[in-house]
Amino acid sequence: MQKEDIAKIVAEQRAFFATGITRDISYRLGALAALRGSIQQHEAEILEALRQDLGKSSLESYMFEVGIVLSEITYVMKHLRGWAKPKRYSGGLSVLPAYNRVYSDPYGCVLIISPWNYPFGLSLTPVIDAIAAGNCVVVKPSNYSKHVSQVIETILTECFEPTLAAVVQGGRDENTALLEQRFDYIFFTGSPAVGHIVMEKAAQHLTPVTLELGGKSPCIVDATADIPLAAKRIVWGKLANAGQTCIAPDYVLVQREVKEPLIQALKAEITAQFGDNPLSAPYYPAIINEHHFRRLLGLIEGEELACGGQYDEAARKIAPVILPNATEQSKAMQEEIFGPILPILAFDDIEDVIARLEQLELPLALYLFTRDKRTEKRVIALTRFGGGCINDTLMHSLSHTVPFGGVGQSGMGGYHGKAGFDTFTHKKTMLIRHIGLDHEMRFIHNQQKYEKLVK
Ligand code: NAD
Repeated sequence: MQKEDIAKIVAEQRAFFATGITRDISYRLGALAALRGSIQQHEAEILEALRQDLGKSSLESYMFEVGIVLSEITYVMKHLRGWAKPKRYSGGLSVLPAYNRVYSDPYGCVLIISPWNYPFGLSLTPVIDAIAAGNCVVVKPSNYSKHVSQVIETILTECFEPTLAAVVQGGRDENTALLEQRFDYIFFTGSPAVGHIVMEKAAQHLTPVTLELGGKSPCIVDATADIPLAAKRIVWGKLANAGQTCIAPDYVLVQREVKEPLIQALKAEITAQFGDNPLSAPYYPAIINEHHFRRLLGLIEGEELACGGQYDEAARKIAPVILPNATEQSKAMQEEIFGPILPILAFDDIEDVIARLEQLELPLALYLFTRDKRTEKRVIALTRFGGGCINDTLMHSLSHTVPFGGVGQSGMGGYHGKAGFDTFTHKKTMLIRHIGLDHEMRFIHNQQKYEKLVK
């Protein structure tokens, strides 16, 4: 798409926003209902596109993408009127007689940039939240997941005029042209490296941003943990989408005395979940492209492997790898892995882990497997990360009732449900003053009058 076409879309969205139509809650509910209908109608195509782009099974695609998007719509529609209602607050003694009302005002024209790993869910969920909040939306899905990007365009074009929601497909030129536009809000999901660029561009217009980024999310297993259960849930969380999940447990920190039992349990779980030859499991996803396939193989080259590492070049699949004796110097520990490779590092004292994590970049997620309530409390209280689970992985991202987002290098801001509505609205405070009474403190503006009054 040409730069001028992108500028035209934004100009037309601005004109549409100015009509005030999107401020009507019934209009927003109608838009969300139309979107839900269209997604349901195109469900088979969405699942097929996810299979083509990432080799995802229909079960995985439904659970992590289509199902989650549909339930976000249902949840948002149920609560929207309540969230959108102006909220009344006391003005406090200093402004009596008056009260405050806080309005949830849409920002206006919003840009949503999404990645390829959960290309449907990570594009549509912020679209739902932004439309619910009364904004117009331009969506830029990833160029790497082309089939899904096409279905997203079909669905949004079918439901909406481009003045409400438009899709811009493309690569570098389109990204650059989009970021030159003046948007009222930018919601970006992707790598910290591109997050920097987005924030820099947004700063030129003082456009607020939400950045949903990635990083290395640790998974801690202490000696009190239920090891078979931990192994089952770690393998499930690590190998969903073949490890190409922003909140996948990136590496495991295990207390030394349970290291061997955990490695054995992890190997057994990989076999239980993907069979003796995961490469031939039809529901084991592929690596998105040749570049990432090669990058991942590079991370395990020359390393000691407890299992996996076989690969199918044509299908771009790598059998799940466990690195049993990884160290902080291992290649796989130098970057976000984003693939089916699990380094295992041993620790002796949980206090050392807590201290070390605080020296690293803040991760998007943290997982802790323990039965020790004191350890649970200390880890939660003393480490900083986006969100996480005790005795599970990934599941905290599936609820609509709580915010999801990162901190530090893993991002800023959050969304899902009410948090998403709040992200896409400016809280506009109005003091509502009574006109009858006019005796408040403000008019005591000279010292003499004040001294008389307080005598
Ligand atoms: P990416 O940063 O390469 O790309 C994300 C999006 O930005 C894509 O649409 C891409 O086309 C666009 N883009 C690329 N270069 C750009 C530029 N110069 N200007 C503007 N836009 C540009 O990320 P990716 O490879 O698609 O996704 C993987 C990363 O995303 C990982 O780091 C992962 O952890 C992170 N991620 C985070 C979340 C989250 O919710 N926090 C979810 C999924 C993925």
